[in-house]
Amino acid sequence: MDLIIENANIITMDDKETLLSGSVLVEDGIIKSVGKNPKRRNKAVYQVIDAEGGFLLPGFVQTHIHTGQTLFRGMADDLELLDWLSKYIWPLEAAHSEKSVYASARLSMLEMISSGTTTFLDIGLVHHTEAIFRALSESGMRGIVCKMLMDKSSGKIPGEDISESEKEIRYLYSAYHNSENGRMMLGIGPRFALSLREDSLVRSAGIAKELGLIITTHSSENIREITAVKDRFGDSNIAFLNRCGILGNNSVIAHCIWLEKKDFDILKETKTSVAHCPSANLKLASGFARVPEMLDYGINVTLGADGAPCNNNLNILNEIRLAALIHKPRVGPKKMDAKTVLKMATICGAKALGLGGQIGSIEAGKKADMVIIDNRGPHMNPVDNPYSAVVYSSDLSDVRYVISDGRVIYKEGRHYLWDREEIVRKAVSEKREVLKRL
Ligand SMILES: [Zn+2]
Repeated sequence: MDLIIENANIITMDDKETLLSGSVLVEDGIIKSVGKNPKRRNKAVYQVIDAEGGFLLPGFVQTHIHTGQTLFRGMADDLELLDWLSKYIWPLEAAHSEKSVYASARLSMLEMISSGTTTFLDIGLVHHTEAIFRALSESGMRGIVCKMLMDKSSGKIPGEDISESEKEIRYLYSAYHNSENGRMMLGIGPRFALSLREDSLVRSAGIAKELGLIITTHSSENIREITAVKDRFGDSNIAFLNRCGILGNNSVIAHCIWLEKKDFDILKETKTSVAHCPSANLKLASGFARVPEMLDYGINVTLGADGAPCNNNLNILNEIRLAALIHKPRVGPKKMDAKTVLKMATICGAKALGLGGQIGSIEAGKKADMVIIDNRGPHMNPVDNPYSAVVYSSDLSDVRYVISDGRVIYKEGRHYLWDREEIVRKAVSEKREVLKRL
C-alpha cells in the first residue's frame, strides 16, 4: 500500500541538512515528495500515518553485525578479544545448525527493528548462510548478509577450504543477491587476518571485485591481534589487508582502533569505510578508536552494534549515544556533535554499503526506509535541537514506527511481520540445542 506520513518533523539527513515540518508521500516503496502538500495519485488508497509531531528520520544503518551470535548473548562476558573468540565464540559458532542460525538471525533482526534499524551488514557465519537469508526475507528489513570465510584449522573452530567457500559464494550470489526488490544482498566476510592465509584473503578480495560485492572484515581491534598480524605478515593490519586487495570503496573494516599513521593514509586513499562499534570496544576492553581524527581525515566512519555476546544488545541508539560521548574526554566536547554522529548512523552507513543513492536520507527518489521517533516523553523535552534530542536523549521506547522498503514493519512495540514471543521462545530452545551439541 502507498503511504503518507503526516505531521512529521523531518530530519532529512540530505546534503543540505534540511529540516522540515510536514508530510512525506511514498508510492511503490519510493519517496515521491518531502514537504507540505504531497500530490496524491488519483484513486490510490493510502495508508496515512500521523507522526504527531515526532521526528521522521531515515532508517538507521548498522554496518557491523553478527546475527549468528545473538543466541550466545551473555555467555562470554568480561573477556578480551582473543580469549573471547577461542574459548567461547568459535566453539559455539561451530556447534550451530541450520535451525539454530535461523533462530539467532530472527532474534537479531527482531531486536534491530525495534531500535529503528532498517539496514544492516552482517559479517555472517562460515556455515548456514541461507538460514540468515531466510530470516531476512521474512523480516522485511534490508540487509547484506556475508558468507564468512575462515580457513580450515584444528580444534573447535569453524572453517573450510577457500575453494569450497568460493563455490558456495557463487551459489548464494545466484540464489539471493539483489533479490526481493533489492532488499537482500550478498557480501563476503573474511573473519580477520589471523583466520586466513594470505592467498585465501587475496582470493576473497578477487571474488568480491569480480561479483561487485561488499567485503568486510575485522581489523586492528586488539593489541595482541595487531602484534600477531605483524609477526606473521610483516606489516600493520591495514597495510596487510591493502596488500591483499581487501580495501577499497566496496570495503567496510570493523573497529580500526590500533592504527598506525600510514593506516590513516591507506584507508583514505582506498576510500575504505570504517565500522565503529563503541559498546564492543569498551566491553572487550579493546580501546578507543580515533574516530574524530578519522572523520577529520575524510575517512567514512559508520556505526554497528557488533555481536550480542560482546555488547550485549543490538540497539543502535546505544551505539549512537556512546559514539557521541566516549571520545569527548580525549578530544574535547565540540567533536562528535549530534549531527555528525547521526550521519554516521544513516547516510554514511548507506554510502559504506554502496547504497548512498538509494537509502540513508529522506529525499524524493530514494527508497522509503524510515523511522519515527516520538518526542513527547519527559526525557525528550523541551526539544530545540532535533539532532540533540535523538542522539543524546532518545531511547528504545521512543521508536514508534519503522518503515522498510515502503512498508510499516513495526508500530509501537508491535512487529507487523513477526510473532515476537514465538521468536524469543525458539531462540531460547535452539540455544539449548547448541549447548547440547557443544
Ligand atoms: Zn565483529
